[in-house]
Formats: sequence, C-alpha cells, structure tokens
Amino acid sequence: MLKVAKFGGSSVADACQFKKVKDIIEAEKSRRYVVVSAPGKRHSEDNKITDLLYLCHAHIKYSVPYEQVFNIIAKRYQGIIEELGLDIDINYYLDDIKSNINDDVNIDYLVSRGEYLNAIIMAELLGYDFVDAKDIIFFNYNGQVDFEKTNNKIVEMLNKHKKAVIPGFYGILENGKIKTFSRGGSDITGSIISKAIGADIYENWTDVSGFLMADPRIVDNPKQINKITYRELRELSYMGATVLHDEAIFPVRDASIPINIRNTNNPDNRGTIIIDGEDSDDSKNQVITGIAGKKNFTVIAIHKEHMANEVGFIKKVLEIFEEKNISIEHIPSGIDSVSIVISSEDIEQYLHDIVEQIKIKCNATSVKIYENMGLVATVGRNMVYKKGVAGKLFTALGENDVNIRMIDQGSSEINIIVGVENKDFEKAIKAIYGAFVK
Ligand code: ASP
Repeated sequence: MLKVAKFGGSSVADACQFKKVKDIIEAEKSRRYVVVSAPGKRHSEDNKITDLLYLCHAHIKYSVPYEQVFNIIAKRYQGIIEELGLDIDINYYLDDIKSNINDDVNIDYLVSRGEYLNAIIMAELLGYDFVDAKDIIFFNYNGQVDFEKTNNKIVEMLNKHKKAVIPGFYGILENGKIKTFSRGGSDITGSIISKAIGADIYENWTDVSGFLMADPRIVDNPKQINKITYRELRELSYMGATVLHDEAIFPVRDASIPINIRNTNNPDNRGTIIIDGEDSDDSKNQVITGIAGKKNFTVIAIHKEHMANEVGFIKKVLEIFEEKNISIEHIPSGIDSVSIVISSEDIEQYLHDIVEQIKIKCNATSVKIYENMGLVATVGRNMVYKKGVAGKLFTALGENDVNIRMIDQGSSEINIIVGVENKDFEKAIKAIYGAFVK
C-alpha cells in the first residue's frame, strides 16, 4: 500500500498542527510521500502566509518598504521551529529569499516560498527527505503542466527518496523560473504525484471530515458523505460545495486513484472517499448524495409565437450572450419559450443592452426578467435507479411553501436543479434534505 498525503494550510498552521501531522504520518507506514501547503490561518482573524507573501510583493511593486510584512512571516516560521525544537537555521533560508528580492522579483517565486519553507521544516520533523517541487513539476510556456516530463522526473526522483516531503503549489518553467498553480494549488501537486507514482490512495488532509450532504449553515448537523463519485463531486462543487481544487481531480481520476478527504483535527473519522464510476456496493439505499446551491441568478424568459417552427432561434439568442462573453448556467425551454439563466453578477452591466438585442435581433414577442433567483442542485448517482424521486422532491418543496420557478434535469439523471426565489433558498434546501435523509 502506497499513499500520498497532502496537508492543507490549516493542517500546518502552527507547531501544534505540525505535531498532529507527525502522528498521522507515523500511524501508517504507507504514508511515504507528503505534500504540504504554506501555513494557513490559526484562527479566523489570522493571515495565511501565502496572502502575506502576496502582500510583500505588492509592497515591492509599489516601492513601499516590505520588511515589516516579511518580518511577520519570518516570525511565524521561527516560532514553529522553536516550538518543535528543531535544529534548522531558518534565518539562512529567510536571508536567501531576501537576497533574491529586488524590484522585479518573480511574484510566483516569492509566494511559493511559503510551501518551500514549510516542506523543509516538515521533512526535518518527520525525518523524511526534502524534494523540491521545482525539480519534479514542469510547466510548458503556455502555463500547462508538461505531464510527460513531470511524470518521468517524479518517478526518477522518488525512486531515490523512499520517504519525502514535497512543497505543493509550484513547479518550474522551461526558462528556470518558478511558476505556481492557481490558489489552493497544492491539491494539484498531490494529485500529480499520486498519479506518477501509482499511489493506491491520495489522502487530502484538511480541517473538515470530508463533504457534508448539505451546508451546515443551512441544515442542522447534516450527515457526512462517505462515498461520492467524481461526477457527483463536480456537480456539487460547481454549486459551491468546495473542499478541493477543481483541477486536482483530473490526474488521479485518469489513473482511477481514489481521493480520501480527511480531517487533521479528527483523524479517527474516515472522511469522504471520492471514487471513479458508479460502484455497485452499499449505498444504493441512499437515493441522494448531497444538496448544494447558489443564490443570485437572473432569468431572462423569452417568448416568441411559433418559436418551435423557427430553425436557429436559440442560436441567435445565444450569440448575443457569446458576444458579451457571458457564460450561461441553464437553458430550460418550452414550445414557444426559452429561458436563459445567468449569474446576476455576470450580467448586471449588460442586462438592458442584451434585452434590447433579443427584442430586435430575435424579434421576440416578450422578454421578461426575473432577478434574485437561487439554484438548488440535488445530486445522486442512485437517483436513476429509483422511481418517484422528482415527485418526492417537488412534493417536499410544495408542502414547505416553496414556489418552484424553474426545473432542469440533465439526461444523465444524477442531478435535479430547481430555481427558487432567493428568499426561499434556505427553505428549499432544508425541505429537500428533510424529505430524503433519515
Ligand atoms: N498556499 C497556497 C494558497 O494559499 C496554495 C495552497 O494552499 O494550496 O493558495
């Protein structure tokens, strides 16, 4: 058994968290490769080291002294080392970083130092080797990972280092410059390494025990999701249920490696397992896997007499949105009507212009705008096997006095989306949860 264990910012925020990580790693010999983020927040008013490094860069860019911010960062690391009683000359590393700072310091280099320093400290604490991400993660000039080179190098390097800590979040460009992934990208590093070495499982340690069936700010004490497929996860995270970086899914999914989301503060909880495909097992009784949603959508309802007979009508409508580069969420349609659902934030400044154009270019009979709409997605791989799921869902909403303004179900049948007014959003989620979860 071979595991890659990635620890997010809150799992490595201070010395106490580092000790928890050590216990977790020592509990299983299979946890041979460890990926770390930079120290995250220790409490809600605290700062993430990565944010402070970005702030440092902003100071440098605007020629404002950056030392004060840098010293806050330095103190965090000095404190961690002191409390762990480690013999690392952290000032040597900090001075080296400082010596590389000049007016046009590469921002990616600077902000990646958070994970770099953390990985050095973690390696020392665990007695593992330190392997720098710049030696194993390679980017092309177009900013994409060069997977072939990266995979080969990871295999070659990690063959030499049977136990290693690797900093997440960055790699190197062909010109030798450091390049980072987008924020939260240490998840991607862990996924790439898991694939390259053929790990049996990719553990992603964070501060929650995986995914919950609904947002705990809306539903009291929602059940934990024990198992979820990649497709379900994609639907739920698109609707706001995020724990993992979107792009982290692809490398391990390609290699059919499950991801296990675990809680560093509660290692006894087995967390959520993300698996590929629809498995046969256990969970068929559980009809839905989770509920998620987002507020603040605008619906543009277009009516045109005899629309059904007019070839290319919808294309004309969509082109108007394309010209403004606005992405569309849903397009529910009737015989002589079609509605376009868009995020209110995206459409705000173009709304009147777009309505005008629909009237003129598409010769619409009427165009109505409905603002302040929420979308609620009920997701479940097992829905397809059960009769009456939609009926139960709509009954629950009706009985709880929620007016459904839109319904959309993809033919894959893993997702039923309902549009409700923002004011009914929480009520809708509670009603659906109540109807399906015992
Ligand atoms: N430290 C980086 C961030 O805050 C990357 C990560 O934590 O995954 O975005």
